Order: sequence, then C-alpha cells, then structure tokens
Amino acid sequence: MAKVIDGQKLAQALRGDLLARAGAIDGRRGAAPGLAVILVGDDAASAVYVRNKIRACDAVGIRSVCHRFPSSVSNADLLDLIARLNADSEIDGILVQLPLPAHIALDQVLEAISVAKDVDGFHLYNVGGLVTGNTVFSPCTPYGVVKLLESEDIAIDGQNVVVVGASNIVGKPMALMLMARGATVAICHAKTRDLAQFTILADILVVAAGVPGLIIPQMVKTGAVVIDVGINRLPDGRITGDVDFNGVSAKASRITPVPGGVGPMTVTMLLENTIASAERALSRGERVAENSASERLF
Ligand code: NAD
Repeated sequence: MAKVIDGQKLAQALRGDLLARAGAIDGRRGAAPGLAVILVGDDAASAVYVRNKIRACDAVGIRSVCHRFPSSVSNADLLDLIARLNADSEIDGILVQLPLPAHIALDQVLEAISVAKDVDGFHLYNVGGLVTGNTVFSPCTPYGVVKLLESEDIAIDGQNVVVVGASNIVGKPMALMLMARGATVAICHAKTRDLAQFTILADILVVAAGVPGLIIPQMVKTGAVVIDVGINRLPDGRITGDVDFNGVSAKASRITPVPGGVGPMTVTMLLENTIASAERALSRGERVAENSASERLF
C-alpha cells in the first residue's frame, strides 16, 4: 500500500518557518512583507481563491492588499495600478488572479509586473528563466510539487518522469523544473495517443489534467510515486483529483491525496515567493546603503 504524502502537514511546517522569516523582515525594515492581489470581476471561484490567499498571508505575517475591479475595467487602469505597485517599496509581490475578462490583454498585464515582484512566476522573463535556469520566481503549483518530492527524499535525478497535462501554469513548468533536476521527462496532453504507454514507464507520475479518474491502476508502474495535481468537483459536491486514489494506492509507493496533497503547497509557495522577494529587496537596499556609506568614507 502506498504511503500517503501529507501536503497539509508539510505546508503547516513550512508556514512556521515563513512566519519567523516575515517577522525578521518586519524587524529589519519596519515593514512586513507585502503582497498586492488584483481581482477583476465577480467569478465565484476566483473570489474563494483570493480569500484563501489573503487568509494564508495573515497567518504568516504578510500584509496583503486586495485591489478589486469590476469586469468592465480597462487595460489602461490595470496597467496604471501595476505601475504604482511596481514603484511601491512596501509591496514585494504582485499577483493578478486569473482568469481575466476577454477584453483585457493578458500578456500586457503579466509583462507589466516587475520581474522582481512576479510572485506567480507568469512574466515572460520568469517563464524563459525556467528554460535557461535563472528564473527569479518558480510558479507556485509545480514549485510545491518539487518541495513535496524533496521533503520525502524522493530522488529526481535520473528518474523517468511523466507529466500528464501541458498547461502554461502547471504541466509545462513542472516538466522544465524536473528536467532541470536531472529527470528524463515526457509530457502528455489531451492529444496524446494511448496515454497508458507513457504513464506505465514513469518512476514519478505527475497528473494535472483536470479529468477525474483519468489514471487507473493499470496505467501505473508498481512502486511509482504518483502526484495528483487535479482538483475536480463531482456532481455530489465532493472534491477529487485525476487519479483513482484507492486503486492506484495499491500499486504506487507514494501518492498524494486530493484534497490535502498539492493544494495546500500551492498557496504556501506563494507565501514563500513573497517572503523571498522581500528578503532580496532588503539585501539590495542594505547593499546600496553600504556602498553609499563607503563612498562617503573615501
Ligand atoms: P488546463 O485545463 O489549463 O490544462 C489541462 C491539461 O491537461 C491540458 O494540457 C490538456 O491537454 C491536458 N488534458 C486534458 N484532458 C486530458 C486527457 N484526457 N489526457 C491527457 N491530458 C489531458 O488545466 P490546469 O490549469 O493545468 O489544471 C489542471 C488541473 O490541476 C485542474 O484540475 C486544476 O483544477 C488543477 N490545479 C490544481 C492546483 C493545485 O494547487 N492543486 C493548481 C492549479 C491547477
């Protein structure tokens, strides 16, 4: 029977460290780490996600500010706000809750965010950095998966990894991050023919398709590590992943549950990125102060 990887427990432990780091930042610069969240329109799911993020910020000592706009907001108004947030020294992270209404130029909005404050990791620079290995912020969900694997001491180097799902926010960055850590990676998606012939080869199988029950035991190698990113609401209201949890548990060596696996880690990595951003801003500020002090000496 597979060991169940407890994402909730790891997230809780990491948030303890984050609380201490946020306190240290507040002590050094007299301002807590700051996250600005931009929420456009009245999508119910987006409102829930934003509420959860704000609550998580409060719990670790990050000051969050939510900017709400009606769905009729103009591109120019959003760009104007982002420019002000970029210049605000007490804002360390800027997050635009997706999806945005169709009339908004998503690319323009994401690229307007300062690379140094792009805590979601969606700016083209950070996306490109995943390819070249010098990204500033890794996107939160795949970053959370990497942390889960590391916390379980699961080797990535030299392993066969199959990622099911090729979206810009989960599947593609996941594949790049695991390849950067030495894995041999195959990416599958909705047009992949005979998915099982790929998944059966995986030492580590990461599933992010949004299809309940997609992965059944026959598709999984005995002893594989199975990470279920999927979040699906069933007609009876229950939340489930993309993997047949009970069936696959009998074959895998380790498996993440839904809920309680990857989900809690995603928000935690947003907190991590925001605090890391504040720490970088602080050390940049201290370097500038040191340089100007030594200029005065000589
Ligand atoms: P998406 O819809 O943007 O992408 C889904 C991907 O899966 C696509 O590449 C598609 O080609 C592929 N796919 C769809 N059906 C498939 C099939 N039958 N076989 C193989 N591939 C298939 O979704 P997304 O934003 O990447 O999210 C994927 C899932 O992960 C969703 O359930 C979403 O709710 C969940 N999610 C969870 C978290 C978290 O924190 N746990 C974060 C983001 C997304």
